[in-house]
Amino acid sequence: MKLTYYGVRGSIASPGNHTAKYGGNTSCVAIQADDDLFVCDAGTGIRKLGKDLLNQGTKHMVLLLSHAHADHIEGIRFFPQAYNPHFTIDVFCQHQQECSDAIKKLQEAPLFPSSAKLNAKFHYHELKDGESALVGETRITAARLEHPGSVLAYRITRNKHTIVYATDNEDSARNKERLVDVARGADVLICDAQYTPEEFKNRIGWGHSTYEQCATVANNAGVGQLHLFHHDPERSDEALEAIVGSAQHLFANTNAAREGLEVHLGRDTEVRRREAVNV
Ligand SMILES: [Zn+2]
Ligand SMILES: [Zn+2]
Repeated sequence: MKLTYYGVRGSIASPGNHTAKYGGNTSCVAIQADDDLFVCDAGTGIRKLGKDLLNQGTKHMVLLLSHAHADHIEGIRFFPQAYNPHFTIDVFCQHQQECSDAIKKLQEAPLFPSSAKLNAKFHYHELKDGESALVGETRITAARLEHPGSVLAYRITRNKHTIVYATDNEDSARNKERLVDVARGADVLICDAQYTPEEFKNRIGWGHSTYEQCATVANNAGVGQLHLFHHDPERSDEALEAIVGSAQHLFANTNAAREGLEVHLGRDTEVRRREAVNV
């Protein structure tokens, strides 16, 4: 499996000099598993993915929607394949009607020119907490976490490798165990680390976590790598680097998700796992 980040930012896109290194696009992560393409969320980052796919002749993808907040779906209308009648998108989400309605609403006037119709073949599938589905040889398991309006994390396993995508999740005593269970033994845990511990004190109930909380889960779940994700729109590259430094004291194999970062599972992760053991 190959993991590529196209959007790593939370809440709203935040382009500019202060985010140039890690990127300002909202959530979008592509996972290529042999011939199958999985895309976690359709934030503004999916626009660039669409451009990359145009040259590859891809005709099908699986879109794993964590939830229907705007920062996770708003890029779909600038994803060229969504307008291609020969392209198929299998969408997995917790509430089929809610997700399809939200995507439809984005295309309606006055939000968008009403003549722009999404002509790709969209097939919606519901996954509830603990349920799983097999796509080719890849197993996807959903886990409900804590976020206003609810959210799903996805555990994506192909052969011996596992990526866990867990964005938009507020850490709580009950929830911590839940995320540890879903992340157990994963090669890569992608974890909502929007806040610093100081910021978190004033944002309880907003639905996000801290790097400290992610590091605790990473340790308890015995994951290979921790990728901090859903960076706050105000977080500068410099501040993010400081956060990574602090997080590495708690879980050595921590990095921050960055637009354009690619991780090849079975190559990069195993090398890093050995390095981590040697630390
Ligand atoms: Zn979000
Ligand atoms: Zn959200």
